[in-house]
Amino acid sequence: MKGNIGVTTDNIFPIIKKFLYSDHEIFLRELVSNAVDATQKLKTLASVGEFKGELGELKVTVSVDKKKKKITISDRGIGMTADDIEKYINQIAFSGAEEFLEKYKNDANAIIGHFGLGFYSSFMVAKEVEIVTLSYKEGAKAVRWSCDGSPEYTLEEVEKTDRGTDIILHIDDENKDFLEEAKITGLLNKYCKFLPIEIAFGKKTEWKDGKSVETDEYNIINDPNPAWVKKPADLSTEDYNNFYRDLYPMSENPLFHIHLNVDYPFNLTGILYFPKVKTNIELQKNKIQLYCNQVFVTDNVEGIVPEFLSLLHGVIDSPDIPLNVSRSYLQSDANVKKISSHITKKVADSLQDIFKKDRADFESKWDSLKLFVVYGMLTDEKFYERAEKFNVFKNTDGKYFTLEEYKTLIGGEQTDKDGNLIYLYTNNATDQHAYIESAKAKGYDVLLLDGQLDTHLINTLEQKNEKNRFVRVDADVIEKLIVKTNTTQHNLSADQQEALTTVFSSQLPSIEKTNFIVTFENIGADAQPIIITQQEFMRRMKDMAAMGGGMMSFYGEMPDSYSLVVNTAHPLVEKILKAEEKACEKELIPLQAQTTELQNRITELKATQKDKKDEEIPQVEKEEISELEKKTSELNTQKETIITGFAATNNEVRQLIDLALLANNMLKGEALSKFVKRSIDILK
Ligand code: ADP
Repeated sequence: MKGNIGVTTDNIFPIIKKFLYSDHEIFLRELVSNAVDATQKLKTLASVGEFKGELGELKVTVSVDKKKKKITISDRGIGMTADDIEKYINQIAFSGAEEFLEKYKNDANAIIGHFGLGFYSSFMVAKEVEIVTLSYKEGAKAVRWSCDGSPEYTLEEVEKTDRGTDIILHIDDENKDFLEEAKITGLLNKYCKFLPIEIAFGKKTEWKDGKSVETDEYNIINDPNPAWVKKPADLSTEDYNNFYRDLYPMSENPLFHIHLNVDYPFNLTGILYFPKVKTNIELQKNKIQLYCNQVFVTDNVEGIVPEFLSLLHGVIDSPDIPLNVSRSYLQSDANVKKISSHITKKVADSLQDIFKKDRADFESKWDSLKLFVVYGMLTDEKFYERAEKFNVFKNTDGKYFTLEEYKTLIGGEQTDKDGNLIYLYTNNATDQHAYIESAKAKGYDVLLLDGQLDTHLINTLEQKNEKNRFVRVDADVIEKLIVKTNTTQHNLSADQQEALTTVFSSQLPSIEKTNFIVTFENIGADAQPIIITQQEFMRRMKDMAAMGGGMMSFYGEMPDSYSLVVNTAHPLVEKILKAEEKACEKELIPLQAQTTELQNRITELKATQKDKKDEEIPQVEKEEISELEKKTSELNTQKETIITGFAATNNEVRQLIDLALLANNMLKGEALSKFVKRSIDILK
């Protein structure tokens, strides 16, 4: 018998071939899953008593005949009668096929899903396809269907004694690489590794007399009972770890696993693993695999699993995820949204559980867990709320605290005069050692926030917790990190401040993209004479800019700005100031007198102009003021030259600056060499 396949488009097969080039390989997944489905249907019929015959051996076999360019997929499932073929194979409703294909030309899954086209995907690789099948139904006759890719098919009765279906593909020349055994092995491993019915590909081999020879035993490529379909109670940690290595051979054991098992309002099973984190690259190498009834679908779980959890490893299996649709559709699907939020909740619950049951264990794993948890808190509001209970902070002594615990710990000592709770932190305990030590000496606690996402976390925490502020230990001198009372003012006159500013700024080595502002603080005779600090706000902005562009890159362009804080109470600073006054006095006094005179005249003129509009001020007066200002600035330059001359000969100035830079790991290159030489000279 001959007939036409029920398609509206004249010839759908060239279109299938042309458009589905990227995903040719999934034909094997489709045909093997059909074989598995037919087998399972038969098992179901047997279990309800509708099939009374012998089930016998039920494995699905895949075989390749390279010479005849054939791939055969055989099952012993329900088979098909001529009527079944007419109904399930010949009648395919293609409406608007061409537009749809054009739209989804790179997404074979979408096309297959749209048309229920699984079987027809075989035409992506075959020039002719045969179905030889015998239905389980009593008295059924075996039939052979064949089609060469045109809408025409033939259907005839044949001899076949064994129940079930053989699908025979005559592979076309363009796709002959599918006739390589290694290629098929690879595909079966990728798509069929956990199918629920045994899949045999060839026979097992054995070494005999130095040669590899075939045995009689079938080579079963799959594990029909993977860990995720078993009950958690039947599995040991060892079993979970073994399954992890089935998925990702050669990987180190994971930290722990979460076994998912949901049957309402959707079906979902799976196992998620928290891996040991070392590098980002490693994290992204092993991906979560998505299955549909044990058939591998994809390892691109974007949209199904919340982004922060896509860093986890493992398997998710759900018949309820509409797999054969486009990604954008998937993301708006209500079921998928529920699945995503369920997984989030489940992960949070498990973490909370471990935290509660065995906090020491949780803390020992925290350094690896932290990235997931913080990432989740930053990107998922619901997760943030749950994670607040187990997200911990590590201090510089290696102790861990939840936010609430930490608030209690520092509440007394680290509240400033305005009632703000100040969290001190370091992002580099080695570089900021001196600052950490002085904070501890003052009875403060210092957190270690050196994670990639910590700057973001700090911002979020500050937004969510009013009157809580994070300040890096080197953001200011210790007295000012947490301002408790109005501190003692320094007692320098304006002239003295000006002089010392010139003394120190003139001797600072120039460092690329770095600015210094000289400021004065009275922080006591015992504190360091010079301290370099970096204001929290600007530094944090720059940190954010370094992490991710946008408008933040504006901050990234700016130079680093530091304060060079001069401790006016330190004896060495007092000594330098005295030496400066002594050395420069003679030259400065007359210049100072001239400056005062100029200033008085300017003040006088400005006073008479106070109530006048700009156009009412006589031109001569304007010119005089600008002349006076010019002279003042010349005098200032002269004064600076004199003071700089003094500073350049004063070794203590350079030495103090260099020591402060050194304490911040900022003394480098030539400046460092000079410092070493100068230090030795001083010792001579
Ligand atoms: P789908 O599997 O999505 O229904 P297919 O085009 O792959 O679409 O298959 C169409 C139908 O053909 C199946 O639903 C099934 O009834 C029948 N069929 C395909 N392969 C087999 C097989 N190996 N054994 C029995 N029936 C089959």
